[in-house]
Amino acid sequence: MTAAATEPTAAPPLTKRVLLAAPRGYCAGVDRAVVTVEKALELYGAPVYVRKQIVHNTYVVQSLEAKGAVFVEETEEVPEGATVVFSAHGVAPTVHEEARARGLRAIDATCPLVTKVHLEARRFAADDYDILLIGHEGHEEVVGTTGEAPAHITLVDGPDAVDDLVVRDPSRVAWLSQTTLSVDETLETVRRLRTKLPLLMDPPSDDICYATQNRQVAVKEIAAQCELVVVVGSRNSSNSVRLVEVALESGARASHLVDGAGELDEAWLAGVSTVGVTSGASVPEVLVRDVVAWLAERGYADVEEVVSAEETLLFALPVELRKDLKAAQQAQG
Ligand code: SF4
Repeated sequence: MTAAATEPTAAPPLTKRVLLAAPRGYCAGVDRAVVTVEKALELYGAPVYVRKQIVHNTYVVQSLEAKGAVFVEETEEVPEGATVVFSAHGVAPTVHEEARARGLRAIDATCPLVTKVHLEARRFAADDYDILLIGHEGHEEVVGTTGEAPAHITLVDGPDAVDDLVVRDPSRVAWLSQTTLSVDETLETVRRLRTKLPLLMDPPSDDICYATQNRQVAVKEIAAQCELVVVVGSRNSSNSVRLVEVALESGARASHLVDGAGELDEAWLAGVSTVGVTSGASVPEVLVRDVVAWLAERGYADVEEVVSAEETLLFALPVELRKDLKAAQQAQG
């Protein structure tokens, strides 16, 4: 006797949807830095020189270049007497000195939350502490913070760097961190530091900034429900790269970092029901909208925003720029 042949059953169609993490995109420090360059261009005219990328985002840099900003790597590339803006990631005091020596009009767009870490470094150094700076080697922010007290600061690039550390006096050691790290990895690094150095001093308040923390919490909220998480951000954006890592650690099957919709790959969507979308702190919303539109064209038109925090923080423009803007307004009557 043979069994009756059964009709092959067709797989049910995939329910396709997008979960959009919030908060995402621009933070207060990036917004301030970008507006600083725009206002400087309006006030002083092009060219306005910008030392390093004002924020780590290709689209933002290209948009400002189109308006007349000229990006340079070092202050010595800026013609004497010209206007230079320092990026949101902060600079060492030597860079301010170089700008003064060249007679530059310097506008410091360092994020106030990075400046806070610089001040902490100065205070601990003044009290003769060894400072263990948790961060990524070579990142501009780390270079700038280290420049505040080079003789006192040692870089700790992740938990595995703890074992080989040597300090002068284990009773006078403090830790600080880059603002855009993974919260979980940093906690692990600090745990290992404290095991080795029980008298380790904490920073007076969190160095990982509110925007980095909020974006990591937001992607954690959606990751476990997503087979794919798309993070919009540039490859040199520390906080964007961290979002990919956090998405994977939090249950996403795959996660990709893209500068924009042009880098998306249809192959990533095979068998994917739910796509998560988020963006780093230096990413304008227009790039996220392009990604969402690209997904909608491929059947992922059902978009739900998952909000884990509201952000209202705004920073005033750099004082040197505000002064000139006010003087220009007064001159116009
Ligand atoms: S990510 Fe944080 S530290 Fe960096 S610019 Fe934004 S608010 Fe400032």
